[in-house]
Amino acid sequence: MHYFLRALKEAFKSWPLLIASFLCSAGVASLWGANIAALFPIIEVTLNGDSLQQWNTRRLEGANTRIESSHAEIKRLTQQLESPESTDDLKIQARTSIDALTLSMRGDEVVVYASHNLTPWLDRFIPTDPFQTILLVTGFVVVSTFLKHIFMLASALIVSWVAMNISRNIRLSVFNKALELDRSQFMQRGASGFMAQVTGTSDMLAGGLTSVFGGAVTEPLKIFACLAGAWCISWQLTLACLTMAPVVGFLMVWLNRRIRGVSQRILDRAMGFHHVLFESLGNILTVQAYTMEKFEKERFRTCTKNMMRTGMWHTFYYTLANPITEILGIGMVATSIVVGAWLVINHETQIFGITMTDRPMTVPGIMVFFGMLIGASDPVRKLSGVFTGINTGIVGAQALYPLLDTPSRLTESPNPKSLPSPHREIRLRNVSFSYDGIDTVLRDVDLVINFGERVAIVGPNGGGKSTLVNLICRFYDPTKGAVLLDGVLLTDLSLYDLRRRIAIVTQQTELFNETILHNIRYGRWDATVLEIEAAAQKAHAHEFITEFPDGYNTMVGPNGYRLSGGQRQRIALARAFLRDAEILVLDEATSQIDVESERLIHDALAMYVANRTVIMITHRASTLALADTIVNIDHGIVTKKAVNERSAA
Ligand code: ADP
Repeated sequence: MHYFLRALKEAFKSWPLLIASFLCSAGVASLWGANIAALFPIIEVTLNGDSLQQWNTRRLEGANTRIESSHAEIKRLTQQLESPESTDDLKIQARTSIDALTLSMRGDEVVVYASHNLTPWLDRFIPTDPFQTILLVTGFVVVSTFLKHIFMLASALIVSWVAMNISRNIRLSVFNKALELDRSQFMQRGASGFMAQVTGTSDMLAGGLTSVFGGAVTEPLKIFACLAGAWCISWQLTLACLTMAPVVGFLMVWLNRRIRGVSQRILDRAMGFHHVLFESLGNILTVQAYTMEKFEKERFRTCTKNMMRTGMWHTFYYTLANPITEILGIGMVATSIVVGAWLVINHETQIFGITMTDRPMTVPGIMVFFGMLIGASDPVRKLSGVFTGINTGIVGAQALYPLLDTPSRLTESPNPKSLPSPHREIRLRNVSFSYDGIDTVLRDVDLVINFGERVAIVGPNGGGKSTLVNLICRFYDPTKGAVLLDGVLLTDLSLYDLRRRIAIVTQQTELFNETILHNIRYGRWDATVLEIEAAAQKAHAHEFITEFPDGYNTMVGPNGYRLSGGQRQRIALARAFLRDAEILVLDEATSQIDVESERLIHDALAMYVANRTVIMITHRASTLALADTIVNIDHGIVTKKAVNERSAA
């Protein structure tokens, strides 16, 4: 709930819009009540054939007559009270009757006052002909219904805008968070987890907010308008009709808990569902090559079955909310019909000794009362949907906000230091690193890489080569020790400043589903087409690119699937060359390139690597030939040798 309240607080930032929406909802509610109240003149005029003015005069005269007779009766009873002959019993009776008459007189005085005030309005606006009155009132109902729908539309649009805006902001924040977190924090949820948060969970929250500012305002206001109308006719009868409200309230609280639990399960299942979907489709080649289609289909079938089962529970509770609230609505109407009809048929004002009305109810009065309660029962029924929406929103908020509150482990200094370009040295000082806090991947590493040095990192698989590079690029921070650039801790530099100095090519080339031009330009966004072509030539990509009918404008497909592994690597190399960064990191960057092309790329690299620091993870002798220092990493232990030492050995 606490997180959902935060979302509501965010929504209150758009308070002018919410006020406008509230006013629209109030307009809807009052027109809703007014439409039902319009029943009264229609029934009165149709039943008696009188105009409203005549009805008002009759009401005024009736009230005046009752006041006069009450006065006379009170006078008589007062005399009886003062008479020494009266017994105590008689006196008590007289006192009770005086009290009742005084109360009834007050009511009649209100009627006189209201009728007096109403007279000029009726004279001015209401025709004296009964049929014309019906026409006028019917016209009012049509116009007010039209107006009501305009208000409803405006309110729905405003509320939807506010909710969608919050949901959009949350989507942006989730996306930003995904880009900010360090790699292991990101991988805890994975792309599928973030995808689920950005889509489904944000929608759940938006739905909850729409329920709060839409239904949770409009429907209670409608109920309030109708109950207020019914209250004016008979507050005692209105209270009698609400006797079931506490039971229904209790049931709703129970149901809300269940709905919240089921919504949470749906969310968990949706995460798993996204995960399986992403994995199977992302690794489709492996799935097909190892003929695991059946297994994956089964896995997905199980996920969707679980989701369906949870969805059915959701539907069950959601649908159960309908009858529960409807019981309240129908209970109100049934009570009012039974009690009201009994009072009208028997010309009574009391039932079981409890006063229900000051004077016997008229048929139009009880009809409008019924109308008011029917008018209140419809929004009561709709409230169940509102509750469900709010519960779903609460669950959505509970999933989203903790993620947004997760601080990135890659903290940035508020006052980052600036360093001249190019740097002089990269230093790892007593660095140890562990991904999980248990296995130490790098152990007490002391390493200096001077500017312009070409370092080849070698060693067995899993030795920690990529981890070392990841620490230099600050994808992670060391668990112990420090990484420094020119004596400044990487944590004291801005991430932007550090990364702009680095161009990296990894084994798993990441390409965007865009043109080749776009993919190379990603290295330096302001590069000209000529510069892009020059970079592609260095990476020996220009030849194959120009062979495509669309040349540089060829779309590469999702993750570059239309290109071969070697072509993808060459585009990634071109991107890195274009960046013209002072540190070039190549992680098995030419592993998929054919021997002849690789030789040509090495020639280009040999020229390119001058005047920059190059860190190459490689096993290839041809690449090693470019290096002037070799760093060996085995089980996290780092040893560094100059190439001439290596040759001597
Ligand atoms: P190399 O590049 O030398 O093959 P890595 O640096 O990639 O080795 O990995 C070193 C060790 O760290 C391996 O044992 C690997 O299992 C582990 N490792 C790598 N990445 C992660 C990660 N994100 N989370 C947990 N362990 C990891």
